[in-house]
Amino acid sequence: MLDHKPLILVTNDDGVQAPGIVALFAAMQAIGQAVMIAPEQDASASSHSLTMKRPLRVRQLSPEAYAIDGTPTDCVTIGIKKVLPQKPDLVVSGINPGPNLGDDINYSGTVAAAKEGTLLGVPSFAISLVAPNGTVRFEAAARFAAQLATTILTKGLPKDTLFNVNVPDLPVAELRGGRFTRQGRRLYDDAIKETFDPWGNRHYWIGGGTPYLDEGPDTDAQAVLAGAISVTPLHIDLTNHEALARLRSEWPLTS
Ligand code: MN
Repeated sequence: MLDHKPLILVTNDDGVQAPGIVALFAAMQAIGQAVMIAPEQDASASSHSLTMKRPLRVRQLSPEAYAIDGTPTDCVTIGIKKVLPQKPDLVVSGINPGPNLGDDINYSGTVAAAKEGTLLGVPSFAISLVAPNGTVRFEAAARFAAQLATTILTKGLPKDTLFNVNVPDLPVAELRGGRFTRQGRRLYDDAIKETFDPWGNRHYWIGGGTPYLDEGPDTDAQAVLAGAISVTPLHIDLTNHEALARLRSEWPLTS
């Protein structure tokens, strides 16, 4: 248990104006000293990118809120190293108004912000609402975020591990509890639209498409489809340890 009021960095990939971060910020203010440090603009699908070709500006919006003209990763690294008075006790990212299930995790700015917190040694989680873009029903997710944050502040997280949380878009009373899950697969059919510019040149627009959900046992997608909140422990180490052991014994690598 902490001997001080926990300092909580609240960020997202949708920008400081997004209703999801407003709901998350309010939930974190109820349990600690929350400071919002988030991108000026929507930076969804920016993954773990870092802005290195230009300077970044921090704009203070209020005593507890800052906007940075960069990515979620920029916000977490600058937030922790330059803006906050000391290292935070928790980094919370979201609430994203759309799922971050399975393969989505690779592209997600929301999840990357929590990864960056983890890399910097701060317990972190990302939280997303499995709903169409534009949704405003963040109550259940905000409530769960507060509970989870309280537990993490007490118990900590496994080493080099962040939580990726996905909340079904249901009223609190209809949610079927929370489940620890594994990362599934989520592929999109027809996610690149081929169209033409006004001069007849072909161009491509990535987005949309129909997700194919892997409903394998214990996956994030399966929990959400069953009405449960999915909590997936993600590891910073991407090594396939099982393959590593086998490869070392079976593959000769000669120089
Ligand atoms: Mn987003």
